[in-house]
Amino acid sequence: MAADLLVAGGEVIDEVGRRRADVLVSEGAIKAVGERIEAPRGTRRLDAGGCFVTPGLVDLHTHLRQPGMEEAETVETGARAAALGGYTAVVAMPNTDPPIDSAGVAREVMGLGVGAACEVHPAGAITVGRRGEQLAPLAELAALGVRLFTDDGTGVQDARLMRRALEYASALGVTLAQHCEDADLAAGGHVHEGEWSSRLGLPGVPAEAEEVMVARDLALARLTGGRLHLLHLSTAGSVALVRAAKAEGSGVTAEAAPHHFTLTAELVRSYDPVFKVNPPLRTPADVAAVRAGLADGTLDAVATDHAPHLREAKEAPFDEAPPGMLGLETALPLTLRELRLPPRDALALLSWRPARIAGLADHGKPVLPGRPANLCVVDPRAKWVVSSEHLASRSRNTPYAGRSLTGRVRHTVLHGEPVVIDGEAQR
Ligand SMILES: [Zn+2]
Repeated sequence: MAADLLVAGGEVIDEVGRRRADVLVSEGAIKAVGERIEAPRGTRRLDAGGCFVTPGLVDLHTHLRQPGMEEAETVETGARAAALGGYTAVVAMPNTDPPIDSAGVAREVMGLGVGAACEVHPAGAITVGRRGEQLAPLAELAALGVRLFTDDGTGVQDARLMRRALEYASALGVTLAQHCEDADLAAGGHVHEGEWSSRLGLPGVPAEAEEVMVARDLALARLTGGRLHLLHLSTAGSVALVRAAKAEGSGVTAEAAPHHFTLTAELVRSYDPVFKVNPPLRTPADVAAVRAGLADGTLDAVATDHAPHLREAKEAPFDEAPPGMLGLETALPLTLRELRLPPRDALALLSWRPARIAGLADHGKPVLPGRPANLCVVDPRAKWVVSSEHLASRSRNTPYAGRSLTGRVRHTVLHGEPVVIDGEAQR
């Protein structure tokens, strides 16, 4: 049984508002919230002075690499990185080896997540082997509790198959999450197609490779009534398409990754593959559009697209290196500071909005008595310098190495248990 815990002296920020309050936790749940709570003798105290106390963060887009690529990350190490980043739940992407396209592999990942430093919820593949040819057993996976389906890494190219998948998903009450990329338009590209691809002589991916699939899937969602979530949107055109769809009443949801609102295509002039990512880093105008989309609610969530890769793989020449960046340990400070939003609006993008999209009832809810105690305690003023050697991820490919960030997770509480105390992982 979990010992009683008092999170003392912080400012609670959640969907209902902001207030100075202590939070008393007992047996995995919030027992009391109020000013100066007298805790029973023997209660463990976590100091939250100067900190925000918020519902735990939820990442809609984490690559944990297990099964199959355990040298790059495991469920255990990825979950630890997540907890250190303030997350109490992550959605594990199914592009593992083998992919999560069957109940057996989904059960395996769920099993690996038991006892991890955060909850791990596998997403299922939309198609068998993520090959885009034949639907995966969505009903069987949904029966296990899988709520998000995606072929992430690639988009479903066949519009007729995507239509059927959306119809099926609608009947099952689950959501399809699309990696929007037209494979023919993107073929052979390694960076954003524009000024820097021409100056550096690197083959580019046009913004339109993303936008044509965004437009197509918005149309298919309208046709079928299926629930659609758009992963890692990166272009001004994509943001405009989603904004227009929502203005017409579409129930679509969409996310953006921190690297798409903090970094631009110019960084690839170093030819350092740490800046290679899919979708690629875009122009300053795209960055501004993604920021505006997050600010006005066009984009619903910040998701990390945490994508660990072996050092050797990321030391290959730019055109041979795999795309992807670490993100779990840096997303919260980047979102709190760089978007210049009120803290509650920034936290909505990281906690309660993604929790709702993922269908996770135990996360993101207001900090009130009776709720499961999944909490993030972050010091918004703490400064730290990102060091790739000191991240909990098994991989090192952070594009923020050496960068000074403001805002650091102090404690993370998972079902009443402190899994991070004073910035140190406890699991
Ligand atoms: Zn993707």
